[in-house]
Amino acid sequence: MRTIDQIYIDGAFVTPHGDELFDLFNPATAKVIGQVRLADAEDARRAIAAAKRAFPSFSRTDKSARIDMLKRLHAAVDARTDELTEAVIEEYGAPVSRARWMAKHAASVLLDAAELLESYDFIRRAGTAEVVMQPLGVAGLITPWNSNAGFICGKLAAAIAAGCTSVVKPSEMSAIQTRIVTEALHEAGLPAGVFNIVTGRGETVGAAISAHPDVAKISFTGSTAVGKSILRSSAETLKRVTLELGGKSPVVILDDANLVEAVPMALQAGFMNSGQACIAGTRMLVPQNRLAEVESLARTAVEQTRTGDPRDPDTAIGPMVSQKQWDRVQRYIRIGIDEGAKLLAGGEGRPQGLDAGWFVRPTVFTDVRNSMTIAREEIFGPVLAIITYRDEAEAIAIANDTDYGLQAYVLSSDLARAHAVASRIDAGRVLINTLAHEPKAPFGGFKHSGIGREYGSFGLEAFLEPKSVLGIHAT
Ligand code: NAD
Repeated sequence: MRTIDQIYIDGAFVTPHGDELFDLFNPATAKVIGQVRLADAEDARRAIAAAKRAFPSFSRTDKSARIDMLKRLHAAVDARTDELTEAVIEEYGAPVSRARWMAKHAASVLLDAAELLESYDFIRRAGTAEVVMQPLGVAGLITPWNSNAGFICGKLAAAIAAGCTSVVKPSEMSAIQTRIVTEALHEAGLPAGVFNIVTGRGETVGAAISAHPDVAKISFTGSTAVGKSILRSSAETLKRVTLELGGKSPVVILDDANLVEAVPMALQAGFMNSGQACIAGTRMLVPQNRLAEVESLARTAVEQTRTGDPRDPDTAIGPMVSQKQWDRVQRYIRIGIDEGAKLLAGGEGRPQGLDAGWFVRPTVFTDVRNSMTIAREEIFGPVLAIITYRDEAEAIAIANDTDYGLQAYVLSSDLARAHAVASRIDAGRVLINTLAHEPKAPFGGFKHSGIGREYGSFGLEAFLEPKSVLGIHAT
């Protein structure tokens, strides 16, 4: 049993004012593995005050000082990768290969920000004006459980690169990962108050941060419903807001695709991170005249997808993070059946032989219409919907017929054609014949998938305000 009873304010580990104890679970066993003492709104206010005190001097640090800090933070987090991998498996249930990637990603985003800063100009010219990119102030950074360490480090990296100080509100369900990351960040020896980390409930700590007048910026990753509530409460104090929200990403398999490669790739896109990924490709759009082939390949691919012990290197799908998430996935599978979609693989209940833990059966529905609930709402589990189209124009129309627009995939053996299709899809990212991540490219969504972008110079500028100074240049 682990007990985590400290938060991090003003450069020190302190006991929270809040006294609620929250159970932490191992999702593979559904057993309690520890407890975290949660911060409350008073802790949030103390953290914001510390960040506010640190801002005047931190915002004036120069680029080289911040590059140096980011490199120290990277080295410190990188040194804890093994421990972090273990925590991600134990506390979140990610399969080991995914967990290792997540832990490495948490470190590498800090180095990416340092590299970006090397070539970023904070001062430019626009006509006769000098344009200075000025840090916004105190930033509130709120993360979800499905990639907690990565989002803490990614958001913090951009804030630090920009010269903002921060209050991080990690997911309350990821306290073990948060503790490891916080210890590492502390070891990097940044000035007190530059970052503060307060684990607490969203409706108390998160809400206090998003309403507080001394917070200038919110960067939030999580559900669309909570994102909208943050946008509303931030409006009162006109905070700058970056929202990374949900998705219902299409995987467009063009009729020239090599299906033997494309179908397993489409399934991987849908089942990534055990289906608990905002970027999961959950709507598989396939040409009507190749449906039978797709179904047969998909059935085989699901049979070969191992669900179970996240520590087994052959496991592709681990458990859902919580009972609530397990129930949610079951509910959507039932809705799919009730609305008339046909089960091609999987279905309700637990996979055979997995009686403990929050495991679900990897599920593929076919005969899905894009108007069905399972094609419109984010399920956040390994549940895919095969939808047919007649021609390319209809494929694009279905791909775009969604409230979301976070990511899309186009699979084809003709790169130029795939590129042309990609140009007509409304999504923040379109991946052609790949599932690879590009940390230097902007990330974020169209429509209900969010506002703004993270990563690269777009992500950095989300923490900066341009200021034009006129009268210093004659021409
Ligand atoms: P969530 O919205 O329930 O919670 C996210 C965070 O917000 C948590 O830290 C939570 O405590 C906090 N929160 C909850 N209520 C709040 C409030 N009223 N005010 C302020 N903060 C509050 O999401 P989740 O269940 O943790 O994560 C799953 C969701 O996140 C999915 O919808 C998924 O698509 C989305 N997500 C999006 C991205 C992306 O980059 N677009 C990445 C990962 C996850």
